[in-house]
Amino acid sequence: MKGVDDVPVMEPFRAKVVEPIPLTTRAQREQALRRAHHNLFDLRAEEVTIDLLTDSGTGALSAAQMAAAMLGDESYAGARSFHRFRTVVEDLTSYPHVLPVHQGRAAERILFSTLLRPGQITLGNTHFDTTRANVELAGGQARDLPCPEAADLDSPHRFKGDIDLDALHRTLTGQDSPRVAAVVMTLTSNGMGGQPVSMANLAETARLCRAHGVPLFLDAARFAENAWLVTRHEPGYRDHSPREVAEEAFRLADGCTASMKKDGLVNTGGFLGLRDRDLAQRCELLLVATEGFPTYGGLAGRDLDMLAQGLVEVTDPDYLRARASTTAYLAELARAAGVAVVEPPGVHAVYLNAGRLLPHIPPHRFPGHALACALYLEGGIRGVECGSLYLGKEDEHGDPVISAPWELVRLAIPRRVYSQGHIEHVGRTLARVAQHADRLPGYRITEQPTLLRHFKSKLEPVPLHTDEPRSTTDPTARSSPEPHPAAMSAPPCNTLTPSR
Ligand SMILES: *Cc1c(COP(=O)(O)O)cnc(C)c1O
Repeated sequence: MKGVDDVPVMEPFRAKVVEPIPLTTRAQREQALRRAHHNLFDLRAEEVTIDLLTDSGTGALSAAQMAAAMLGDESYAGARSFHRFRTVVEDLTSYPHVLPVHQGRAAERILFSTLLRPGQITLGNTHFDTTRANVELAGGQARDLPCPEAADLDSPHRFKGDIDLDALHRTLTGQDSPRVAAVVMTLTSNGMGGQPVSMANLAETARLCRAHGVPLFLDAARFAENAWLVTRHEPGYRDHSPREVAEEAFRLADGCTASMKKDGLVNTGGFLGLRDRDLAQRCELLLVATEGFPTYGGLAGRDLDMLAQGLVEVTDPDYLRARASTTAYLAELARAAGVAVVEPPGVHAVYLNAGRLLPHIPPHRFPGHALACALYLEGGIRGVECGSLYLGKEDEHGDPVISAPWELVRLAIPRRVYSQGHIEHVGRTLARVAQHADRLPGYRITEQPTLLRHFKSKLEPVPLHTDEPRSTTDPTARSSPEPHPAAMSAPPCNTLTPSR
């Protein structure tokens, strides 16, 4: 396997327990997709061979985590499990106040509804969509200030997760400055394709925040993967361990919200870490009312023990090297198949540029969805559309009102689950799909809910020769890596990833 350093990398673990994966025939997959109304979210797991829908909560546990689960203390208050968990989190983050929660968005809800007053603003490199939702639910406004390189999907720039420091400085000194309640840096920037934040950018952000008296929080869901990319690519950090980089990142901030379903290496869990005692006490009130007593926060004692162990394992350089190498390998297989990916690939997922592969499918016929369905039909692979099905909008005739800036498919890689053989199956499937890409149908929505339509819409394929003539005169029918002009008016359109 070709690694990020162009050396072969193998996984530093072997299997102790295995789970069969379903092998299906093409006829079975066609039937399953029809039954699911051509929405991959409506497939049953036993109809999916390789599930790349998300890397959230889908990882494999280690033997040490399973052993830790047996030590779980299920006492309601003061459990040993909590104290073990708290010690591990405090060692890693330096935050003296650690509030466990059932998953990341609960930490976001507790922090932002405690911190924000209506009309206040949070600034960030790119808020993840649950973060944005919780800021808005608290009456705030989440404003994204991504660095300019992030808008170029082909740019090999290494730190596209960086915040635009000039824009941050301008906002912190401009007319909106009294309304800025916090800065949120998301490591890695999931909304921007899993792109990392450099330590130089984070340090300067922290300096600006301090100078203007604004607290800085990390959204630390993928703190270890961010740290790994820093050790590989940021000058001055090549001799650091991922653990040292992660510790330094947490120390630069005043606290964090963290989904542990990603770099916690557990199936569920999260925490809110804070320096400020007063803020922590106010958050704790909400924690008790809505999640649970502060020593379990909606988790079982065994969850806290598995999480404590996961946080120790996740910064292992051998694990991170192998994981990054798997992602780089999948990206390489995609390019070799003639499918462009968002460059450079991060660690948690590969994003396929469906808009470029399928220029004959206009945005309102959902090229990303077409590619995702084709991957399922061809090889039983489930990815997720990140394009106009997720972010777009049509009028009552199905004509486009808003299109997404990019038409992508995300293939997220669960942690420690799939082998090189599985990844090669994905590569071969992609190559077969790419060969007859010009014959793939588009899709039309036949039924949709009013909110978060990508989860629940029903669709049907539209063979292109019978598609309405208007799509050929429609400006969006052009193949173009440029965003459709209508996309400029789309609300949070500079985001690539739905809420998973
Ligand atoms: C997944 C995720 C969240 C939300 O966490 P959940 O555990 O799914 O509630 C927040 N931020 C980022 C960057 C994420 O990837």
